[in-house]
Amino acid sequence: MDIIVCLKQVPGTTQVKIDPQTNTLVRQGIKNITNPFDTYALEAAIRLKEQYGGKVTAISMGPPQADEMLREAISLGADEAILLSDRAFAGADTLATSYTLARAITKIEKYDLIICGRQTIDGDTGQVGPELAEMLSLPFVAYVSKIEEINNGQMRVQRMIEEGYEVIEAPLPAVISVVKEINVPRLPSLRGITRAKSAVIPAWGAKELDADQDRVGLAGSATRVIKIFFPQRGKRAEILQGSPQSQVASLVTKLRENGLI
Ligand SMILES: Cc1cc2nc3c(=O)[nH]c(=O)nc-3n(C[C@H](O)[C@H](O)[C@H](O)COP(=O)(O)OP(=O)(O)OC[C@H]3O[C@@H](n4cnc5c(N)ncnc54)[C@H](O)[C@@H]3O)c2cc1C
Repeated sequence: MDIIVCLKQVPGTTQVKIDPQTNTLVRQGIKNITNPFDTYALEAAIRLKEQYGGKVTAISMGPPQADEMLREAISLGADEAILLSDRAFAGADTLATSYTLARAITKIEKYDLIICGRQTIDGDTGQVGPELAEMLSLPFVAYVSKIEEINNGQMRVQRMIEEGYEVIEAPLPAVISVVKEINVPRLPSLRGITRAKSAVIPAWGAKELDADQDRVGLAGSATRVIKIFFPQRGKRAEILQGSPQSQVASLVTKLRENGLI
């Protein structure tokens, strides 16, 4: 069973600062980590390989330093890793990111399952998994909390919903996104760390992917970030006086005046 895991390197903090001039994240001095949800995706892939045999390939679109994260994936049990890195990929929104990942997966050719995290902790959209499935014309199941069985080219999985969970069967190849309830990720082994150090991680750019230049990076992005800002937290408090009716009327007037309703 050949599994592809999509990993994204993200800032290892939720206290990110935004450069008001450029509207981009200030990345200086911030340690990068593997997107936490993607560590569950990787663990799920490694466990499937241990159960059914096959190969795990980790892929990531990102700057050259994402190589470090991919080596960590190898130390944990991924067999191969591929970095998708090119200046042309910069400024990608989810559409361009999904297109780039889809080109790489098409180039890899042989796969039964693609596993993503449910969302990232920086972009936070949860769009890449479903967009990827759409671009590859594959079935997609989101919020998978358990992979029950893989048999005869079919998977049976549990997906979390608000009231409990659903059991879904779908043909392979397919794309799934996983939640943290699916497993507890392992720690790297000494053998894995040694293997990761000497692993060769190819970097594929737009040329290697035979990608349409108009569909990658900023050029291929259907959205533009016009402004990013943190809402100002005010500490103003006012206790309204009078009867309940007049307090409600006064509250509604104040909310209207401040454009909140
Ligand atoms: C107009 C615009 C410009 C942007 N410019 C930049 C920029 O210059 N630099 C920048 O860093 N970000 C930029 N972003 C953010 C970037 O587009 C998103 O982070 C990216 O598209 C992925 O979306 P997400 O983080 O919401 O992933 P989600 O959809 O939340 O991710 C779901 C899952 O998809 C997989 N996945 C997501 N991204 C990747 C990836 N890159 N490689 C492998 N797997 C992945 C992971 O498994 C992840 O758990 C920009 C966004 C917009 C809208």
